[in-house]
Amino acid sequence: MTRQFELKELIRSDNFIDGQWRAAADDARFAVTDPATGTVIAQVADSSPADARAATDAAARALPAWRDLLPKERATILHKWNALILANQHALGALISLEQGKPLAEGRGEVAYGASYVAWFADEATRIYGDIIPQQQRGKRMTAVKEPIGVVAAITPWNFPLAMIARKIAPALAAGCTVVAKPAEDTPLTASALVLLAHEAGVPAGVLNLITASRDHAVATVADWLEDSRVRKITFTGSTPVGKYLARESARTLKKLSLELGGNAPFIVFNDADLDAAVGGLLAAKFRNGGQTCVCPNRVYVQAGVYDKFADMLSRRVAELKVAPATDPDAQIGPMINIRALDKIARHVDDALAHGARVLAGGKRLPELGPHYYAPTVLADATHEMLLCGEETFGPVVPLFRFDDEAEAVEAANNTPFGLASYFYSQDVRRIDRVSRALQAGIVGINEGALASEAAPFGGVKESGYGREGSKYGLDDYLSIKYLCQGNLA
Ligand code: ADP
Repeated sequence: MTRQFELKELIRSDNFIDGQWRAAADDARFAVTDPATGTVIAQVADSSPADARAATDAAARALPAWRDLLPKERATILHKWNALILANQHALGALISLEQGKPLAEGRGEVAYGASYVAWFADEATRIYGDIIPQQQRGKRMTAVKEPIGVVAAITPWNFPLAMIARKIAPALAAGCTVVAKPAEDTPLTASALVLLAHEAGVPAGVLNLITASRDHAVATVADWLEDSRVRKITFTGSTPVGKYLARESARTLKKLSLELGGNAPFIVFNDADLDAAVGGLLAAKFRNGGQTCVCPNRVYVQAGVYDKFADMLSRRVAELKVAPATDPDAQIGPMINIRALDKIARHVDDALAHGARVLAGGKRLPELGPHYYAPTVLADATHEMLLCGEETFGPVVPLFRFDDEAEAVEAANNTPFGLASYFYSQDVRRIDRVSRALQAGIVGINEGALASEAAPFGGVKESGYGREGSKYGLDDYLSIKYLCQGNLA
């Protein structure tokens, strides 16, 4: 039977190193709080470089045996892990909502989404093919085989506390790598619960190690991995400045990197769009997790012929969204993660208003609910001088920009250093072909706002990073190719 845990059994406050729960080497701790209320949920290990080193030691020791398992043996363990995650969907979903703030339905949805990567990569483990290279010389055989890259360090953000780490650990383990991981300081508890279930599923000691650290300790702790030549790969999801820092600092030991960084997603609505579909797609893409995802539309470009109608249809729907703590079953938007996030949203909206934007919905904090709540907002007459055009707002704010022709919209959409997700709505087949080729982004939603799937390659171009998560391409980031040349055969 697949074991079901109570929520309180899933809450762990220590590091998990070499198959054991251990306090930080110097016994330090930091508080994890519920963003809805500010209540302390747990005091978790605040790691230092000694803990990072112990995790790497364990992962390096465990590597040979894990790498040498048959792929289907690793797959069996990953499938058990997937089954355990799904069996504990409610408790894990509640834990996500508790530490991250997203509504319960979204928390549970994230569990299923994260588990889908575990199941996907369990299957992919058994499909790591190489090549027999057509013979070039008599008496010589050439083959290419794929091998696990080695110890992988995974560093993850707070917005999807389960899915982000699952979609790094699962391919790493499937490929035969061992892992050291550090979740975000705001949301370490879900990651610890996930690791507990991996252990329960039979992931051997040392194969998966997790350390937690406060923001103050994170830099020095992760620096130990950056310097350690046994760590062969960094997989990171987070902000572009931190991604660049990791790339720079890991250059001394020339690690392979996968970087899923910030976006500034454009969402274009052409005159020929199905407006009902466009409004529905925008609501789905924008307000998931209260606007705190890296694929959330940040700039909405609407063609002049439908601008007023679209603005009206959208703002009516946005005004109806229910803002409430995650525990309210009707909640559609929960609290933002922390006060810094709130302050950034308010700064963007205030700046937009100072530059001539008009509020069609929301536009204010909701102190009656708590300090971390912001009303879902629609702003008309957005322009490129506004802060919210150049930076990701990461909150429930939709700025509407007006445009006249296609070339202008594409140019504006691409006028950013970022290139993660993009979206457009049109019913003209030729335009669909032109615009999907012209958009500089790793992901393009065409008449669709919900893009996430474990079967699809997720990742960016430009300063949104490199590497792909999910899909048949996702394992490549954790493998290196070895060329075998055998001579003297004839
Ligand atoms: P966000 O703005 O979403 O918090 P960050 O890029 O700041 O994104 O953080 C993402 C992850 O990177 C978190 O786990 C955080 O602790 C970690 N992190 C942030 N700064 C550093 C750093 N200088 N070195 C190592 N890890 C870092």
